[in-house]
Amino acid sequence: MRLLLLAPPGAGKGTQGERLAAWSGARHIAAGDLLRAEARTGGGLGREIAAYQARGDLVPDQIVLDVLTPAVVEAAAEGGYILDGFPRTLPQATAAAELAARLGVTLDAAVYLHAPDDVLTQRLLDRASQGGRSDDVADVIQHRLRVYAQTTGPLVPYYTERGILVAVDADQPPDSVTADVRSRLSGLPFLTS
Ligand code: ADP
Repeated sequence: MRLLLLAPPGAGKGTQGERLAAWSGARHIAAGDLLRAEARTGGGLGREIAAYQARGDLVPDQIVLDVLTPAVVEAAAEGGYILDGFPRTLPQATAAAELAARLGVTLDAAVYLHAPDDVLTQRLLDRASQGGRSDDVADVIQHRLRVYAQTTGPLVPYYTERGILVAVDADQPPDSVTADVRSRLSGLPFLTS
């Protein structure tokens, strides 16, 4: 299975990505986690990534592609991938589509998890109060939601036009979201063939 999870901050793509990976056997590749791991190495590139993440700005496309591409290529060769948070801009989507076509491993579906902004904000503030990430503070959360709407939002029509968008209501308990995603995916031809 080769999937992409498209969702605003707080929609639950990390949780759902892990569950989908366990269910399907495909590898969960979380862009934010890989970038945070690179940031922790503390080198020049790591410091640059950390600065973007701390502000809630997107890391530049070329850096993201350099960090993510090896993981995607490896997972594609080993039975599939669940991409969580990548691609997140139209140039990343185009680059990812070219890479996938070259490797013969194009996307089966783009799962779009959506929820209202007030629900997303509350979830991220709750995560912050439980010792969450350093970018889970009110002003950075608002900025991340704006960046999402401006830069990642256009990927919804992009994948709709390609006929692979699967939209799921993420304003439900995690188990209900998982059940909806699984039932929607089970109806797709690539899983039943
Ligand atoms: P969330 O989506 O909840 O904000 P993530 O862990 O997916 O959490 O992303 C955290 C941060 O990592 C983003 O604000 C951004 O700085 C960076 N990031 C993650 N994925 C990408 C990407 N595909 N392109 C650019 N930056 C990214």
